[in-house]
Amino acid sequence: MDILILFKIAVFFSALGSTFLLGYAFNRRANSLSLRALSGLLVSTLIYAASYFFEISAATDMQITLALYLEYLGIFFIPIFWVFIAWSYHPEEPAYNEPLLRRLKILFAIPVISNIAVWTNGYHHWVYDHIGMNSEQSISLLVVDRGPGFWVLNGIMIVFLIIGSVKMLINLIQSDGNYRKQYLLLSLAAVPPILSYSFILFQSTPYNIDTSPVAFALSGILIFWGMYNLQLFNILPIAQKLVVEAIRDAMIILDPEGCLIEYNVPAKKLFDSRVPGINKKPLIELYPHLTPLFLSESDSYEIDLEMPSSDNVRSFSVYRSAIIDRKNHLRGNLYLLHDLTEMKSYVKELEHLASSDGLTNLLNHRKFVERAHAEAQRLDQIGSGTFSIIMFDLDKFKMINDEYGHSAGDKVLQQIGQLLLQLVGNKDLCARYGGEEFIILLYDTQMDTATTFAEQIRIAIEKTDFTYGGSKLHVTGSFGVSAYSPLSNTSWEVTLNHADTALYMAKKAGRNAVHALQIPFRESVSS
Ligand code: GH3
Ligand code: MG
Ligand code: MG
Repeated sequence: MDILILFKIAVFFSALGSTFLLGYAFNRRANSLSLRALSGLLVSTLIYAASYFFEISAATDMQITLALYLEYLGIFFIPIFWVFIAWSYHPEEPAYNEPLLRRLKILFAIPVISNIAVWTNGYHHWVYDHIGMNSEQSISLLVVDRGPGFWVLNGIMIVFLIIGSVKMLINLIQSDGNYRKQYLLLSLAAVPPILSYSFILFQSTPYNIDTSPVAFALSGILIFWGMYNLQLFNILPIAQKLVVEAIRDAMIILDPEGCLIEYNVPAKKLFDSRVPGINKKPLIELYPHLTPLFLSESDSYEIDLEMPSSDNVRSFSVYRSAIIDRKNHLRGNLYLLHDLTEMKSYVKELEHLASSDGLTNLLNHRKFVERAHAEAQRLDQIGSGTFSIIMFDLDKFKMINDEYGHSAGDKVLQQIGQLLLQLVGNKDLCARYGGEEFIILLYDTQMDTATTFAEQIRIAIEKTDFTYGGSKLHVTGSFGVSAYSPLSNTSWEVTLNHADTALYMAKKAGRNAVHALQIPFRESVSS
């Protein structure tokens, strides 16, 4: 088959290919500015290729002239769109350089004016002196005498094509390792059209055929390959960046030497007011307060950090992950820091609420039993040791309520609580056991020592002037004391019952007294 017929078929498929690529890019044009520019470039290419197909199929001078003019509707726009792609393409930022590009839109005046010059050529012959056709070959061939305008307009176009390509090369040189392939591919895509333009300018193709539509198709194939294999215009990197920005946890990425590569907005609070740039020094040298972050061998741990900006300590749960590349090389470490400070203080508050008595702020019944039980278990495990229990109930307390009112009674209970805390201290347990009934656990204390101590408390209460409004109130209490040891023949709850019984005995004996009730030890039972 004639080579020119083959060429005609190639032009046809180039137009078809541009249409296909255009559909692909156009559907995704909302994803990024560069995809919008690519769509524009493909529309121009399509107009160019389709008109060129019309040119080589023309039957009359009129038809071939019209086809030539139509081609320019595409041709002149291509370099401008190419410049836009070069300035807007960024693998991660869909709106890269948007303000600049908005101002650069004025560049579209150039192809518009160029087209006016071409379409009015019949009046001034500035672009072409003569347009005719040669129909001796198997396809129609354009025969022209180029005027000065041809060189001016095509010169401007070449300049913009070169500007766009140089920018793409600069992008390539400046790109970090991650996106070098993408920039390289786009730079390579510029090569076929530039070569083709040079051929036409210097009329060095056989029969002066225009190879550009085919050259653009080649570039299109390259770009299309890149879309699939290099995710050239993929939204995934963009989405990933958005995710990183949306996380409320602090995220930092360090290289294997511990130098900062990346961090997100919440991570800024980890640094002081001078937020670090990407630095060649290990982070720990710049910010020694972050040392606890690097002490654990584990991948998930908790740390406390002294915050430089606010002088307080905050707790974080840290998740660490090594970043390993496809060749199994360690590229860095990712740290995610979730701030636990507020949660921890809520938990503490809840624990306090769940374990304390609202009126007296002593332990409540449930918490007391839990801790006494734990102590009994501990002693059972080691098989020795002892603890004592003092239980007391205020005497004739109903009368206080009757005489002064319920809130006076409450006030007295509060003051008893304070008095107990002073006398007992933090070492032992002190709880409000019931209405006006209190209980004390003395660790590692024999019953006689506890009995003496109970006596001291009894006297302290008796001697205290409790106050309500202007009145001084006097109360007394009846005390029961007992002790637990793993050597007792019973469970520790029996100790509780014994203390209760002792208390009842004190009441019976006339109140304001201390009674003790010893549980016999196993040895003494067997002896
Ligand atoms: P006794 O010497 O026999 O213990 O006499 P009592 O009046 O204290 O009798 P009992 O212990 O049976 O009664 C407890 C009284 O304590 C009943 C109630 O009026 C009072 N009380 C219990 N809890 C509270 C409380 O939270 N606030 C006030 N204000 N009074 C309470
Ligand atoms: Mg009472
Ligand atoms: Mg009572």
